[in-house]
Amino acid sequence: MKRVGWLVLLSMSVGLVGCGNNAGIIFDSSVPAQQQALLENDINRLAQMKFPSATANDAALLGIANMDGAALTKWIGERIRVIIGEDFNVSGNTYTFSNPTPFTPVLFSELSPVSAADGELSTIMVNIGADLYLKARASNKSYFLDMGIGFTQVYTPRVGIIQIGEGLFTVQGYRTDPIDSVGNTLARVSTLIHESRHSDGNGVAVAFPHASCPSWMGGGFANQPACEGYLNGPYSIQTAMMKVFRNSCVGCSQSELYGMDKSISDYASRLQSGATFQDIRPEALAELQ
Ligand SMILES: [Zn+2]
Repeated sequence: MKRVGWLVLLSMSVGLVGCGNNAGIIFDSSVPAQQQALLENDINRLAQMKFPSATANDAALLGIANMDGAALTKWIGERIRVIIGEDFNVSGNTYTFSNPTPFTPVLFSELSPVSAADGELSTIMVNIGADLYLKARASNKSYFLDMGIGFTQVYTPRVGIIQIGEGLFTVQGYRTDPIDSVGNTLARVSTLIHESRHSDGNGVAVAFPHASCPSWMGGGFANQPACEGYLNGPYSIQTAMMKVFRNSCVGCSQSELYGMDKSISDYASRLQSGATFQDIRPEALAELQ
């Protein structure tokens, strides 16, 4: 990952100090301090934003009563609990135990607080919690991840463990703008929204997995699991919210608006015909006592 120029960029901004965030997300010690500061700044900026262009449909898509930055921040915080660094060794810190009882999925209530965008050939972020949950579910084992904060049982996709990918601070940005520009903040926030949806769902739509892209799709996406089969899935809500951000942005430059338009087109192109709405309530396995 390229980190050249970070100190220069960081010194240009005020208030980029890792002193907590409004979503209550915990950062594992594997996240470099500069990345944590940027993401916390993104979240705290989001909490102050208003989205006058948001419609009732946008709010309904996420299940938020009134769409504004504070509500969206809370929504993300219910689905993303811990962020781990790109270099965190997930497989080396995963422990499994055979379940004493058979797999019996239950539903959490929708508001119960219990959380990749896959860019062009580059991973932006990964919802590791959802990935491990699917493995636990398929194998009928209890999965635990040993992070700096201790052992966490992955008993629901809402466990909300998200890993930073190599593209979060490099590929996704608007390139000519500072890494902490408003547009780049909104791009990263849209990724957090995408990952948040992978913390939702039950039954066949648990964790809202991506669909396989059609063989005719260009850009390296042919047959890759980077498309969208759900009208309220990760790419669908990322498309909707990026439109809201684009149309509500105060302080976005022309190049940022152009970049956001490109992102909207990209995310929208992932939607497959026959896509359906799915219940977002998260399921859960029995917790080991
Ligand atoms: Zn995804």
